[in-house]
Amino acid sequence: MGSLELLKIDLKGLKEEESSLSFDLDDRYFAALDGADVKRGSLHVSVSIRKATGFFELLFHTEGTVIIPCDRCLDDMAQPVETDNRLVVKFGSEYSEEDDIIVVPEDEGILDTSWIIYEFVALVIPIRHVHAPGKCNPAMTQALEELSADRSSDEESNQPIDPRWEKLLKLKEKS
Ligand SMILES: [Zn+2]
Repeated sequence: MGSLELLKIDLKGLKEEESSLSFDLDDRYFAALDGADVKRGSLHVSVSIRKATGFFELLFHTEGTVIIPCDRCLDDMAQPVETDNRLVVKFGSEYSEEDDIIVVPEDEGILDTSWIIYEFVALVIPIRHVHAPGKCNPAMTQALEELSADRSSDEESNQPIDPRWEKLLKLKEKS
């Protein structure tokens, strides 16, 4: 869990009005979180934190690449991601999350950003993500092509032959 400890921001301990942090996250981060959608990747996250009266404003910039299965061939593919997000954090009696406002227990004063960053990234992955043209797994591509060729030839052979063509074909056979 070592890599996730870094993502706990000690808001209570912040002395300056403005501060900034940055994190480089890799496969170990995704493995430690064990989220359903993304298992590998590398991200650079920068966070700027502004301490205001009664709340903290956090601006996140996250960019990098996540490794996810291609929708067409199911092999892993690299999906570039980039996202900017804003959060407001307040201190309260217990943890709560609503829209972009997070309340953290005042006695701890720590914001754990590990899942927050994961969710930012998961939200910007396109619903349909496929390899660039020609980059899909060749064996799978061939299997898919054969499957669709089979389907269309089935459709053709099921169609009754146009009677005019039938006559022409007979003529051709005679000649
Ligand atoms: Zn693919």
